[in-house]
This record gives sequence, structure tokens and C-alpha cells, in this order.
Amino acid sequence: MNLTLSRRGLIAAAAASGLVPSFLRPARAASTTRRGDVLRVAHLTDMHVQPELRAGEGFAACLDHMGSGFKADLILTGGDHIFDCFETDEARTATQWELYRSVLKKHATAPVQACIGNHDIWGWNKGKSKTSGNEPNWGKKRAVAELGLPARYHTFDQGGWRFIALDTVQTDPNDANGYTAGVDDEQFDWLSGLLSKTPASMSTLVYSHIPILHAAGGLFNRTVKKTTHSLGASLVCLDNLRLVHLFSKHQGVKLCLSGHVHNVERIDFQGVSYVCSGAVSGAWWRGNKADDKPHVARAVEGYVTLELRSDGTFSQGYETYGWKA
Ligand SMILES: [Zn+2]
Repeated sequence: MNLTLSRRGLIAAAAASGLVPSFLRPARAASTTRRGDVLRVAHLTDMHVQPELRAGEGFAACLDHMGSGFKADLILTGGDHIFDCFETDEARTATQWELYRSVLKKHATAPVQACIGNHDIWGWNKGKSKTSGNEPNWGKKRAVAELGLPARYHTFDQGGWRFIALDTVQTDPNDANGYTAGVDDEQFDWLSGLLSKTPASMSTLVYSHIPILHAAGGLFNRTVKKTTHSLGASLVCLDNLRLVHLFSKHQGVKLCLSGHVHNVERIDFQGVSYVCSGAVSGAWWRGNKADDKPHVARAVEGYVTLELRSDGTFSQGYETYGWKA
């Protein structure tokens, strides 16, 4: 392994803290390291890995493209790592996670930090998944274990930045087989406490599966009536007002990344950039045309690149990797 000290240090520190299990460590050496005061971050979201539609091959192609071109120091994954286990039985759930991990092990060139997506939660639809809810790894517990997370929401520091992974998928009080978007009170209190302990000079990046702010999803998932125009309850965090208000009190918060909507979008609002990072899988490995709304294209298969500078500024792009569905 031809790793420099700084990269080895990063990996060792992450591994020692329990954040990066052995299977998530890079399988081969990256040829570059942190450049000056810039931390290179790749945000890969909505991989939806499954045995069909060459999804594993596509995810591998994406990681190889990133590893040989952008060469991130850190990979953030934005949820929906596998096609689905929300309404999927044990055997197929296991198959998908095994495929996901084997691709990551062979092709990831930097440490990986994840957050949980709705399709990563095992069995919340008990009927379709044939689960009882009493399985020891039912629900988010399985996602935490499969992804090697310290908890369903967590934080770590790297390159002078603070990173906060949120869990934005919540049970739906009106539908036992569904979910809503947002942050539960326990998690919100933890987030508030963490931000108050974070020095104002420390730049902070928040990442979650479901967006905190998002506009273009209204093209796909909305109800238009004479006097209202509403977005679906699972599309954007329902409690985004309190989150935006919280961030307004903490000037260090610069960036909020998300997945879920399979579109590339950036909203700059009150000093925070809210970025929806497209999808590694495009429209679920069927090109970038959504099945249900063929007239509205989703993101071309790709990932977001970020160069985070120690002064809190950053540059951002979207890289496609030439996938042919
Ligand atoms: Zn998705």
C-alpha cells in the first residue's frame, strides 16, 4: 500500500474510532492525498444495488471513475445503498447487502461514511417483507450494522470540517407500511447540542438521505389544487423550518447534502447551500427516465464532487461516469 502518512492517519483514526469497519477500508492505494488545505469529498447517493440491471457493475464503474479521476479523500454515501429492503424478505435483503459490500471492498479508494436511506431500513412493510418486527436486526438496526455505522445518526471531523450524518426517515403515524421525512425530537436535541458545542469558526457539513430543502421534486411528487400546491410527506423533511432556523443560529453550517430525489439541485438560502446530489443509479438503473413520469428526466447516473477549504468555502460539481443502462 503506497499510502502517505496523512492518508494512513485518516484511515487509522477512522478505523480506531470504529467508524470504518474493515470491509469499508480502501482495497487499493489512492495515488493522491489531501492537497494543501483542500479536502476532496465525493458524495455518492442512491446506489440501489441489486443483482438485476447490472447495478453492481454500475456502482463499481462509478467508484472506479471517481478513484481514477477526482480521487476523493473521503466518500460520503447518501442512503438507498441497496435497491430495497423496506419491503423485502430476509434472503433477498442479504443478497443485496452482500453485493453492495463486495463492490465497495474491491473498488472504494477512500474511507466511506454513510447515512441511512428509506430503502436501507429492513422490514418496515411487515407484510411484504414477511417480518414480524421481533427480528433482532429489524428496521434501522440492520442498516446500522450493514453499513458499519456507530449509530443511526452520528458525527465525525475531518480536514478541519465537522460532518454530521442525520437520519431523516421516520415512521408514518397514518400508515404502518410507510414513512415520513424529518428528524425525531431526540435526534433534533442531539443536533442542537452538538451545534452549540461546535466553535463558530468550524465549518460544518450536514448530510441526510431526504432533503431538508428541495424544490424541483414538486415536478414529480405533488398535489395541485385550486388554492394549494403541496409536496409529498416523504419527499422533503416535514420539520425543515426548525432545521433551517437552527442552522441560522450557527454560522459554521455551510452545506447540507441529500439524495432521495434522484435529481441534481442546489438551493442557496440564508448562508447554507442545500445540494441534492443526483443518483449513482440515475432512474434506478433504467437510464434517467422515471417509469412513472417519462416526460421528466431524472439525473444522469453520477455523483457530486466537493472541494472543501479550511476557510469554509467550497466548490461543487456533478460528475457523470458514462454509464449506459
Ligand atoms: Zn433512491
